[in-house]
Amino acid sequence: MERIVCPKCQRSDSIQKVTAIVAHGTKVIEERGGIDIDTEYGMDVLPLTYSSVARSNLARKLAAPEKPLQSKSYGCIAALFISRLGAALVVSMILVALFLCSFPFLAATYAQNNTLFIGILMAGFGIIGLVLFSSIRAGWRQLRSASEQRNFHDARLQAWEVSYERWQQLYYCFRDDGVFIPGQSSFVPVNQMSDYLKAASKRGKSL
Ligand SMILES: [Zn+2]
Repeated sequence: MERIVCPKCQRSDSIQKVTAIVAHGTKVIEERGGIDIDTEYGMDVLPLTYSSVARSNLARKLAAPEKPLQSKSYGCIAALFISRLGAALVVSMILVALFLCSFPFLAATYAQNNTLFIGILMAGFGIIGLVLFSSIRAGWRQLRSASEQRNFHDARLQAWEVSYERWQQLYYCFRDDGVFIPGQSSFVPVNQMSDYLKAASKRGKSL
């Protein structure tokens, strides 16, 4: 295997793989403890586990690009849609029940006045249709915006994967305080590393 040298100083005596620097410079500290709480039955203890991540300065500067988080799940939106539709159905059923319950008392009036009967029926169907329609439309819009968000998230995730893959190949030169990929001529100062990784993912996308 070819010897890896820094493209800036052309030497190999003070370089180290970035993944190794970050792994060695990162410590996860775990502590266990408890909180005293007052319950109906006296004092009790809630167990607690804290963990915190400590990083050396260099490890922090060289840390891997952060993976984008997924925002909202489809399941949650579907549940919201179903509950909204359920509420619309309840409203519709109350209207139908009101009509049916009042029918015996108003039957005589309806018999005298056909247009009143038809008018009430039409108004009832109109309201039910409107309630159902608006709840379905709102649910549909939410699903569509969720799928747009998901596409956006997928694109960001793909960009992150390219950046991350590139990050895994990086070497650091302690003498020149910068990173490089073996075999490539570009040398990147540490404070420009994240821009360099992002540029890589943009290039990868356009290919
Ligand atoms: Zn160097």
